[in-house]
Amino acid sequence: MNRLRSLDIKFIKGVGPTRADLLEKQLGIRSYYDLLHHFPSSYLDRSQIYRIADLSGDMPSIQLKGRFISFATHGEGAKSRLVGVFSDGSGTIEVVWFQRIKAIRQAINPGAEYIIFGKPTEFNRRWSMIHPEVDTTSATTAAQGLRGVYPLTEQLRNRGISSRTLFTWIQSVLNSTPKLSESLPQPVIDHYRLMPLRDALCAIHNPKDVAQLQRAKLRLKFEELFYLQLNILRTTRTRNARLNGFRFPRIGTFFNSFYQNCLPFELTGAQKRVIKEIRADMGTGRQMNRLLQGDVGSGKTLVALLCMLIAIDNNTQACLMAPTEILATQHFETISQLAAPIGINVKLLTGSTRKKQRDIIHSQLTDGSLHILIGTHAVIEDNVQFRNLGFVVIDEQHRFGVAQRARLWKKNLTPPHVLVMTATPIPRTLAMTVYGDLDVSVIDELPPGRKPVETMLRYDQQRLQVYQGIGRQLKAGRQVYIVYPLIEESEKSDLKSLEEGYELIRETFPQYRVAYVHGRMKPAEKDYQMSLFASHQADILVATTVIEVGVNVPNATTMVIENAERFGLSQLHQLRGRVGRGGEQSFCILMTKHAIAKETRRRLEIMTSTSDGFVVAEADLKMRGPGDIEGTMQSGIPFDLHIANLATDGQIVQLAREAAGSLLDEDPEMSAPVNAMLRPTLAAIFNKHVDWSRIS
Ligand code: ADP
Ligand code: MG
Repeated sequence: MNRLRSLDIKFIKGVGPTRADLLEKQLGIRSYYDLLHHFPSSYLDRSQIYRIADLSGDMPSIQLKGRFISFATHGEGAKSRLVGVFSDGSGTIEVVWFQRIKAIRQAINPGAEYIIFGKPTEFNRRWSMIHPEVDTTSATTAAQGLRGVYPLTEQLRNRGISSRTLFTWIQSVLNSTPKLSESLPQPVIDHYRLMPLRDALCAIHNPKDVAQLQRAKLRLKFEELFYLQLNILRTTRTRNARLNGFRFPRIGTFFNSFYQNCLPFELTGAQKRVIKEIRADMGTGRQMNRLLQGDVGSGKTLVALLCMLIAIDNNTQACLMAPTEILATQHFETISQLAAPIGINVKLLTGSTRKKQRDIIHSQLTDGSLHILIGTHAVIEDNVQFRNLGFVVIDEQHRFGVAQRARLWKKNLTPPHVLVMTATPIPRTLAMTVYGDLDVSVIDELPPGRKPVETMLRYDQQRLQVYQGIGRQLKAGRQVYIVYPLIEESEKSDLKSLEEGYELIRETFPQYRVAYVHGRMKPAEKDYQMSLFASHQADILVATTVIEVGVNVPNATTMVIENAERFGLSQLHQLRGRVGRGGEQSFCILMTKHAIAKETRRRLEIMTSTSDGFVVAEADLKMRGPGDIEGTMQSGIPFDLHIANLATDGQIVQLAREAAGSLLDEDPEMSAPVNAMLRPTLAAIFNKHVDWSRIS
């Protein structure tokens, strides 16, 4: 297979150097390999023959079998056309040519049987077909089944390269390479019952039927994902082998007494499962790097605390890092309250911690009497030194870069275990790829008794009604968020509408206090405004998406999102998660102009129809593709996959992951003779295709 990467397409009959250059420029096709992997975007159905009597409305190109019963030429010169009447016994259809009239008239033998292939159209109850492909019935056997239709560019078309031309070249490459060496190890092919490579390539371009096409696609997608996973796992395992971590063999008094006496509620099944997964990891002696995904409100904090207690039981310290001062403070309050009865020492370190307090923290950290340090990125400053840091929790991971994470690892000789928590639900299969270096745990269950947030789509014309609803909530003593989009490209006009919105709200609700936050404010001002809202000194918060991350104000029951159509689904879901945190019924109102595209409307209706973050994330992924999903950017995964689709081929991702994993278990160096193709193929794929611009 790898040999095909070095064969130049200019040697294919009918291609030549000029067209080869053109193909390279236009489609990136240079080698035989590239050409064979230029997969069809759709197929023409040559597997069945239709009856003219059965033709109906909007049909794709189809085949008819019959005879030409008459010909007539209409018009003069450049405007002339040839019309043949074609009959198959069930009816007739007019076949029309505007070019090469003479040649066609001569070539067709009246009375002989032909198969014509084209798109039938109906006009005035008469069927016609323009410029069909015409073959004698004996000649067509070669091109039976479904025939590939290829993505092309205008330039290529202008230079006379059609889909059919590409098809012919591909067929001739396939014919000239009767023996293709397999690109997957035979045991893998056998185990997953995959189609052999050559069969798959033949079938993807010219499948006999839909079933065969499916099998070919499966094989080729599997192969692509297999190499992707192999590459990821290879890197991860090398790193894991290098990094020895703490082994936490025991569960001790802190954990047990907390679990028995202080647990504020029964853990959900998902919380229990995840804690088990994390415990198992911490017992292996390998450094843990785990991503904990859980929808907003799923109870990640408690999981984090319990895991930190295990670390403390094993004579180490724990640290929790949050992206903002408010979040860090909230975590500090929750955790110190929960852990106080069992004598755990918890301290908060942020940019605004006073010198005196800082000194206390520093000395308690080094003498080991401080068990848990919670803070912002202040905790990664170099002068923060632990006696023995064993466990690190990073909340809302996408606000921290990989480099920042690494600084925490380096605080110890033995790198601490790392738990990254995020509420941005990424479909599991994507996470396996995107966060290749992290294991993934998922809390897929909310604590009992939550009332799902009621989500509504409202138009500008209904604003009055919406404001009345807000008024009722405020009157009942609840708080309200009003969120505006702010994106850099349209910053000026966005800020203007934010300001106008703020004024409008103040005028509409003069008796209430309104806080106001946007990302361009100084951090101190921002924190001040947010804290007004958090402490209920403000009833309404008008804001941009700065509030997206983690803020917990259980008394806030209403979230109004202006210009909702400009947000991604995952982002809307994040915002919605800010409400519904208390016992009250909460509301999320998506405001849009009346005139939104159907597609947009459909997207927003996903929000009104489900409160499941994973469903939202899957839908988002399917609509936008993985490149746009938060978190994928820093992953370094090349998303220019040829045939597999991370959004829709989740199951195949899983199989490929499993296959790559067990292969590396058995043959970590990939040196067994059956695996001989792996290293060169990995090199060919990843040295060439990694898009470094995507790696941060
Ligand atoms: P998130 O996953 O969004 O960080 P939190 O950890 O803030 O969620 O938890 C959300 C709320 O749910 C908190 O008020 C917490 O006390 C509560 N909670 C957590 N676990 C449970 C549980 N098992 N049963 C009931 N309530 C829970
Ligand atoms: Mg949280």
